[in-house]
Amino acid sequence: MHGKTDILSLTRKELENDILSLGEKKFRALQIFEWLHCKRAVSFDEMTNLSAALRKTLSEKFFINFLKITKKLESSTDNTVKYLYELADGNHIETVLMEYEHGYSLCVSTQVGCKMGCRFCASTIAGFRRNLEPSEILLQLYEAEKDSGRKVSSIVLMGIGEPLDNFENVMRFLENLSDEKGTNMSLRHVSLSTCGLVDRIYDLSEKKLGLTLSISLHATTDEKRSEIMPVNNRYNISELMKACRDYFDATGRRISFEYALIDGLNDARDDAIKLADLLKGMPSHVNIIPVNKIKERSFTSDRKAAQRFQKYLEELGVNATIRRTLGSDINAACGQLRREYEV
Ligand code: SAH
Repeated sequence: MHGKTDILSLTRKELENDILSLGEKKFRALQIFEWLHCKRAVSFDEMTNLSAALRKTLSEKFFINFLKITKKLESSTDNTVKYLYELADGNHIETVLMEYEHGYSLCVSTQVGCKMGCRFCASTIAGFRRNLEPSEILLQLYEAEKDSGRKVSSIVLMGIGEPLDNFENVMRFLENLSDEKGTNMSLRHVSLSTCGLVDRIYDLSEKKLGLTLSISLHATTDEKRSEIMPVNNRYNISELMKACRDYFDATGRRISFEYALIDGLNDARDDAIKLADLLKGMPSHVNIIPVNKIKERSFTSDRKAAQRFQKYLEELGVNATIRRTLGSDINAACGQLRREYEV
């Protein structure tokens, strides 16, 4: 935007360096950081403990990014709220606010569209446009909290996009989210879901962030997985499982496996046996998701099948739960609202 720096995307350290280079004292950077991330200021004019001259300089060098709520859908059956946000460049993304017993959870997007091509997913149909900036991921939280008046206690990176395909920006988002001088959310309350970009899983292990890694597995043989998830042609199941074991060894964090159940494709007892084999010896948890119908595809499943599959897994000693379906009356599954709006 006019060659100005996106100030909400800067980490506290980077902001400090920029403020020092303007000839200001270091504590000013902290004041500004708190205005942005604690008081959630939307303009430099609000920063009343800074001089008018400094506020003017800031507005010449930086801009405060923003999202606009284009549409908001509230479920009538549970407290789920789905936001369609417009970004400053006119693109759209989705964010879902969900209520659980332990508090509110927010599902955020990390990209506009997605390159991964999973066959059952609405987010990938129109392809990929661009990565989200750290500020645009963070603002999904700030705007949802402001609009709803609710305090979000956990975040899942499970909206539109593949978070590990936007690695640097997602890492900066996590740094700002967990900064003790800002929102200060423990990364123990964050889950990152990936379709399995193995190289990036190793990069993530090295960072030892304490977040929960969710793997979208969805099938237990390379043949079936490649059929529904093209990423499997790049990194096959055995490479993926090796990276998962490494992640657990490096971080001590139990891995969560997403398993979208699809009628006749991956819901047989034999699939459960293969799944149990893959997970043998690895502390893990399986999240069974009855596949969400999207109008462009014919995949289906139902709750009964999910219960049956859960029972198979239990008999095999695998820890599994069925994902609660929230907001089904407002199409809260990822990518669907944006598609309706943009196409
Ligand atoms: N790209 C990341 C995160 C976004 S998708 C990933 O692949 O994990 C979040 C989860 O929703 C993934 O497990 C994804 O496979 C699943 N998903 C996508 N479309 C779905 C659908 N129609 N029904 C059920 N789950 C779906």
